[in-house]
Amino acid sequence: MLICPNCEAEYNDGVTVCPDCDVELVDKQEFESHLIDTKDWETVYTCSELYEAEMLKANLEGAGIETMIVSKKDRNFPTVGDLSFVRLMVKKDDLDAASQIIQDINSNKNESGDNL
Ligand SMILES: [Zn+2]
Repeated sequence: MLICPNCEAEYNDGVTVCPDCDVELVDKQEFESHLIDTKDWETVYTCSELYEAEMLKANLEGAGIETMIVSKKDRNFPTVGDLSFVRLMVKKDDLDAASQIIQDINSNKNESGDNL
């Protein structure tokens, strides 16, 4: 999937230049990892399972908090210990609220009494 770095429209394979902006499209994942550097995103939670991050992402977005999942399963990330490493990122402004929501979710999970 390619994305226009200017208007952030996404295009299917075969399109290399944004017809609206006349700007060359970039790889969406690369664009998003670039966003982490330029915008103020913080890691609010890390886990090894993508579904766990996605569950929290759904909860946070339900609370109106913008989130992004970054997976370090990529080829250029050498495996050291952890097999996979998933980060849930939020903007710095939302970090406190997001941490609180995740804490609540995790404490509810413990109270719901699975025999683990
Ligand atoms: Zn564009």
